[in-house]
Amino acid sequence: MNDSEFKHKVLDPKSASFCAAKWYNATIWLGSGQTTSCHHPPAHAIDLEALRVNPRALHNTVQKKQDRRLMQRGDRPRGCEYCWKIEDMDRDAVSDRVYKSKIYPIEALNEAYQMDYHDDVNLRTLEIAFDRTCQFACSYCNPAFSSTWVRDIQRNGPYESLVSDGRGHFTHAHDTAQLYRFGETNPYVEAFFKWWETDLHKTLQELRITGGEPLMSGETWKLLDWFKQNKGKSTTRLAINSNLGPDVDVDRLLDSIDGLEVDIYTSMESVDQQAEYIRDGLDYTAWKANVIRLLESDRIRAVHFMATINALCLPGLPRLLDYLVELKQQYGRERVSFTLNILRFPSFQSPLVLPERLREDYRQDLAFWLAGNADQPYMHEHEINHMQRLIDYLDVVKTPHSDAFEMPKLHNDFRQFFSQYDRRRDKNFTATFPLLAEWYDSIQV
Ligand code: SF4
Repeated sequence: MNDSEFKHKVLDPKSASFCAAKWYNATIWLGSGQTTSCHHPPAHAIDLEALRVNPRALHNTVQKKQDRRLMQRGDRPRGCEYCWKIEDMDRDAVSDRVYKSKIYPIEALNEAYQMDYHDDVNLRTLEIAFDRTCQFACSYCNPAFSSTWVRDIQRNGPYESLVSDGRGHFTHAHDTAQLYRFGETNPYVEAFFKWWETDLHKTLQELRITGGEPLMSGETWKLLDWFKQNKGKSTTRLAINSNLGPDVDVDRLLDSIDGLEVDIYTSMESVDQQAEYIRDGLDYTAWKANVIRLLESDRIRAVHFMATINALCLPGLPRLLDYLVELKQQYGRERVSFTLNILRFPSFQSPLVLPERLREDYRQDLAFWLAGNADQPYMHEHEINHMQRLIDYLDVVKTPHSDAFEMPKLHNDFRQFFSQYDRRRDKNFTATFPLLAEWYDSIQV
């Protein structure tokens, strides 16, 4: 069944807003004691009191139970706006609601749809972050997810004169993202390991560790040690998000996962200096070398490339896609895949801030790329759909600037942010993105 058929035949007959991720999937940030379903809805707090008696409260929060109720009735939880926006573009548009539900058996979907929304659910797929330790400070990230971003703010103060960033992503160190210091006991981490030991290692199909940079966190290595010492005790598939930066210990990783087959997810959306500009801390050559080392190992099931589509990556994106095709041809379609995730926040870094002329140029480049690759056997269906969805998104007719009055603010922030980013990070916007330079210089602040 293809994605569109799955939507119409399996999901929609339950309800027009049903998404199994609300039941079976969670992202949990143990550093801040927060959770969400997939990574799109805003995070919300986990009740510490509930957790003391029931570690399953890490996932089964009051908020999620209310959202499940809405979905059973066909109402749309507000936090899932990412999917509603895509579906509202076109009745047949395939949103993440489909991808995030399709991975579970139909019986599990039926069970979720019929169950009492008050009941706790056993997770099937989990993404977990132990803390925000990270050696990168990417432009679209912020101190809530990166200790290097925290240091930027602590050393240089808040980013100034940003008017569209109501959430203040770049103005403070986000201390609530890391409630417990290094060496202190974190009750959320404790609850996770308790849940893991008693239940999770038996029921969880996939565990994905994220960060920060998880391979910089001691808790990740503790969990990997558990797998090493308890060989065969759990069938949970392990996946690790890693920026594959130059100081990531790939040798130690490969040694720790002896006997396992692990999926690696790595973020990338451009190439060379442009990629290094966006993902501050990246060494593109070292990243490629790490990718190859992983693909050469039989302990790595696949490397998945996650592109966060922002205003700066579009010039380099087709070249990155060409590189991924080379990898697919060398290592096989099943061992190399990519997703294109359209950035929403910070909104001043969205591709929608680009002038229409540039957006149209990039749209055409991507449409040309897709026309040349869509029929090739190395492409996955979801990759073609993600490409088409991005091409539609960049179409100035299909996705106009809905809040045109906001645009001067977004342009102001784009220029304000990157001029400060340049000074703090010793970078040079106009030299790195010559095709954007004229427009960038013309922005009045
Ligand atoms: S944002 Fe979409 S994929 Fe995520 S939980 Fe909501 S409906 Fe499901």
